[in-house]
Amino acid sequence: MLLYTPKNDGYESLADRLQRDPLRKTNVYVNLTNQCTCSCIFCLRNTKEMLESNSLWLKREPSAQEVIAEFAKYDINHFNEIVFCGFGEPTMRLDALLEIAAYLKQRNENIPLRINTNGLCELQAGKKIAPLFQGLIDTVSISLNASNAAEYLRLTRNQFGIRSFDAMLTFAVSCKKYVPHVVLTVVDCIGEAEITACQALADKLGLTLRVRPFE
Ligand code: SF4
Repeated sequence: MLLYTPKNDGYESLADRLQRDPLRKTNVYVNLTNQCTCSCIFCLRNTKEMLESNSLWLKREPSAQEVIAEFAKYDINHFNEIVFCGFGEPTMRLDALLEIAAYLKQRNENIPLRINTNGLCELQAGKKIAPLFQGLIDTVSISLNASNAAEYLRLTRNQFGIRSFDAMLTFAVSCKKYVPHVVLTVVDCIGEAEITACQALADKLGLTLRVRPFE
């Protein structure tokens, strides 16, 4: 499923949603990849049942042109926000993401575009990525997960080791120069003390913290 929308606690394809409820505006999520540099202990992708039955699991990654062809079927002015999210980490398909974003902004420069990311793309690419978002991406939402490097690594089990936490924060701060809205997120089940520590960290960095419900 390349384009999908939220539905109750789950999701449905954009085509199904528009057929069922064509008049109400919706967010649209773009699913570009299953790949991720993390293996979070809470990630749904880790359960075998999920992989076998989940329609978000891509058998083949779509090209940018395939996603653009999907969007071409719709009036994008009917969407509240378009979010690069997916089953994996969207920046693993950075070139496709940027090409699709440019196409969407060309159709409507005011359409809000967001990336939901683990924030490790600069570590993965070995170069600055944040400047590429200028003029294309309106919001970067980064999973902070934890208030310190050891807990972050324990939760995300990412490929890069203990340096990943600082690299993720550096990327977040760097995004502020190029993207209007930069948000750190944590889930509400990490405990009050940890949420307070994450808020203090976000305040120190001049970033917004959003506490979201654990799904
Ligand atoms: S960063 Fe997201 S997609 Fe990647 S393993 Fe963690 S929860 Fe799953």
